[in-house]
Amino acid sequence: MGKESVRFACHHCGHCCTEVVCLPTPWDVIRMVRMEGANPYEFLEFLTAEEITGVEDDDPTWLEVGDERYLMALRRSADGCHFLDKKTRYCTIYEARPILCRLYPFAVQETEEGEFLGFTLHDDVGCPKNRDGVHKTAPLYALYQDDCLHQTDYQDLVNVFNARTDADKRPEDFIEMFVHYEKSSPSHN
Ligand code: SF4
Ligand code: SF4
Repeated sequence: MGKESVRFACHHCGHCCTEVVCLPTPWDVIRMVRMEGANPYEFLEFLTAEEITGVEDDDPTWLEVGDERYLMALRRSADGCHFLDKKTRYCTIYEARPILCRLYPFAVQETEEGEFLGFTLHDDVGCPKNRDGVHKTAPLYALYQDDCLHQTDYQDLVNVFNARTDADKRPEDFIEMFVHYEKSSPSHN
């Protein structure tokens, strides 16, 4: 194992789809709307700092509305992610799922200069990290690079949203900045 591959096998324990909050990028959301026809006003929620842990105060994707701050997340219930089939425990939008879901629990390794070294598994996540499988790192790295590009654009969108001073601004108004979805949808007030 090394730069070309990383040992890991998902044993479908369900932890990452029930216990982990998934923070999609706007481009993840667009893909889910286009491929699945999913309603972003139903499958997204906006979490306050009290409702999420493990995100830095200075994370550039905090949405500012009045005196409160929010992060865009996939909606969850006590049963887990909005897209988790409650019977089979499989993802119902597997082909369109967010990049974060695709990269979990892999962690990229780079030099300080940004040279790619390989992938390992995140130390601080709850995945059992079974090592009885092998994944090629090239597709993972392509996903990682794609996500980095999107993060920059994501921050630009957030900056524009945060600069808005309209008194009736709501966190879900962020959605209409990057995706068009019929506002007549029953779940969008
Ligand atoms: S989108 Fe799919 S893979 Fe991602 S957390 Fe939800 S159910 Fe799991
Ligand atoms: S936590 Fe790890 S083993 Fe469990 S479903 Fe997620 S990726 Fe698979």
